[in-house]
Amino acid sequence: MNKKEMNMPASNRIWPALLPIVFLLNSVIPAYSGESRFHSIHTELERQKAVRFDPSYYYDRDTEAAELCRDLIQTWSGAGINAVYLKVYDPIHGAVYRTRYPHTIQTDYGRLDLLKAMLRAAAPYQIKIIAWIPAFQHKQAWEAHPEWRIKTRDGNDYKHSTDSYFLCQRDPAFQEWWLGFIADLLDSYPELDGIDLAEPVVSWNDDEGCFCDFCLKALEDHNAFPEGRVRRLIRSQPLTDLLVQSVRLAHEREKRAVVTTVASAHADGRLFSPDEQRALTGFDLDGLLDSADPPDLINVELIWQQWAHLYDDHRTFSPHWTFHAAREVIRQVDQRVRVIIHVELTAFGGKVMNDEQVLETIQTAWEGGAWGVDFYDSHQADERGIWPLIAEALSYNPLKKVWVITDEGGENDARQLATLLRHFNTHITQVVLDNAFVSPGTSGPDMVFYVGTKQRGALPSDFVRFMTDYSGVICWLNYNIQLMPPEFLKNLGIGFDRVSNEVSAEIHFRGIRFPKEDPTLNYIGPESEACRVLASAMVDTLEFPYALYNRQFWYFADLPTNYVQEGGRHIVFAELLHEILREDHRKKKTALVRIEDVNPLSNPEDIRAVANYLGSQKVPFTLGLTPFYL
Ligand SMILES: [Zn+2]
Ligand SMILES: [Zn+2]
Repeated sequence: MNKKEMNMPASNRIWPALLPIVFLLNSVIPAYSGESRFHSIHTELERQKAVRFDPSYYYDRDTEAAELCRDLIQTWSGAGINAVYLKVYDPIHGAVYRTRYPHTIQTDYGRLDLLKAMLRAAAPYQIKIIAWIPAFQHKQAWEAHPEWRIKTRDGNDYKHSTDSYFLCQRDPAFQEWWLGFIADLLDSYPELDGIDLAEPVVSWNDDEGCFCDFCLKALEDHNAFPEGRVRRLIRSQPLTDLLVQSVRLAHEREKRAVVTTVASAHADGRLFSPDEQRALTGFDLDGLLDSADPPDLINVELIWQQWAHLYDDHRTFSPHWTFHAAREVIRQVDQRVRVIIHVELTAFGGKVMNDEQVLETIQTAWEGGAWGVDFYDSHQADERGIWPLIAEALSYNPLKKVWVITDEGGENDARQLATLLRHFNTHITQVVLDNAFVSPGTSGPDMVFYVGTKQRGALPSDFVRFMTDYSGVICWLNYNIQLMPPEFLKNLGIGFDRVSNEVSAEIHFRGIRFPKEDPTLNYIGPESEACRVLASAMVDTLEFPYALYNRQFWYFADLPTNYVQEGGRHIVFAELLHEILREDHRKKKTALVRIEDVNPLSNPEDIRAVANYLGSQKVPFTLGLTPFYL
């Protein structure tokens, strides 16, 4: 027994023997039988391009619900939109779906069941409908239950504006009613993709609410009255708890949960930190994301024109501010969930965004690293007739700086990888890793590919440090992952067992089998639910993970550029590069005809006839010329 094995805890020593069974139970089968949280892995990986739709702007349309929905879906689909946040309940006007839940009312669209019509219209277009629900505001419940209302310090009802109806998340009776309200919607409309809990706050400013009897009691119990950090923590706790319980209702029904929140900005352009935001509104980003049931997506409103108006500063707050703010949000979220950036077309202070600003705002959100972009709203895009512009902005793929790091002797594989990467909007820098790692640039890359072409005894320590600190996308191919610190692997939820260089395997991916000629396989597997298996290697009858990912980290259990053959398993890697690079450009199915064996003895007339015919049919072709026959 070598030293390394002796240091392993007892449970780990048993683990290799259990490896295939463990994987079969935990991950591989669910990934293929569609039992994972989302309906399919493919759509989960597709970046979200979303629009907000508030039906109340469409009341004057003289069309039937079904027709309106068909029209809208076609418009959205034409703009490349794949998700719609549909405001299903207006806190004042009521539901656009059928419900008899206590204290709810229905709008005209509710009686027509607009939601059902929309779900029906969206299905053939694979557009997801997410139920947008303003969080914890509800006029009818507010009127029926004065005791549920958020209270000010002097005991009055908290009113941010005449149209606000805030209810206290600490009140047990309100909690029960609220969760029933969410469950009623989810159970009545199982075709929904999920729910969006929008703009959850206790009150828009600290100190405005909540001082209801329940909240006063909680403050007294913690001796936290009237000032300071403890009071703010106590103030925000039930907001987080009720969000988490709402998220759980969605997850129990295998639905997605989104939480949409405002991001406040300082006058100098910096975003509020999560602590500052919690102190202001009670919304606790860290509390939510570290909870037992965090939402699947966090959708953050970055509305530069709002802050430009508030601070009267159009220099600091311009479309480009969205880039820095998106970066900051992503840093705050720190890979715990995926980030959608919400932008608005709305004018603040009478200043309407021009077309260029609309385009730049959305494009810089992508450049900032957003996994999705959501814009408000459909009605304004309609009014302005800017759907082609929206389509251009949503399909924008920012240039990505990619470092391809390879072991000495792996330059050829790195070059092949670089060729594949040039299929995308990338700028590639190749680095050879010998005994030290020299960073090829001062400004960091957007993604790093490590191409492990030889089995090492150790990785250079500055390389290990760089990879450990690096917060962008990492794609690791083949060898040496086990040489990273145990903490690194643990954070990714992956476990390494061994490498074999004499495996005969076949790769299974999205229902297709791909032959694998090369004999190398790294036995590696998920040890947490966050780590997903995307393709597996069949070795005899046993199934092992082949391609897996966890948030920004991707791993492939062999060197895809090794033993490339027609129809071989390198296709799995080439296909997944679209997810890794987050580029979902339209599929191009290109082909050309090759006129084979043209040689000095060929009849030029025959060739001309073939060429003319192919030209007339607009079929691209090439000539395979053989100058001499030996
Ligand atoms: Zn309260
Ligand atoms: Zn492609």
